[in-house]
Amino acid sequence: MNSIRLFVLGGSLLLLAGCGAKPPETKTPSVPAAPVAVTPDVVAQLAKADAKDGKEDKVVTKCAGCALGMDGKPEHTALLGDYKVQFCDHCGDKVKDAQKIIMGLKLN
Ligand SMILES: [Zn+2]
Repeated sequence: MNSIRLFVLGGSLLLLAGCGAKPPETKTPSVPAAPVAVTPDVVAQLAKADAKDGKEDKVVTKCAGCALGMDGKPEHTALLGDYKVQFCDHCGDKVKDAQKIIMGLKLN
């Protein structure tokens, strides 16, 4: 009797371990782990975009995909050099093109 119960217990533990090994479901694109290397041109453009949100903290909080019209979200962040570039929910899939989008912005 005892051995049967142990067997069942072991089976369910294995099942649980199997579930735990699955990667967690993510609804939003994950933030890249390593920053992209950028040229001085890009850094200059990033500095201008950063200043547009009123705070020069190396975080561009306005969404570059909307020409800085919308607020970006931390879960859609591109890492470009020392800068974090946040995109809004609408532009979350543009994170991978962040450098291109930043360079396409008309900033003074
Ligand atoms: Zn956007």
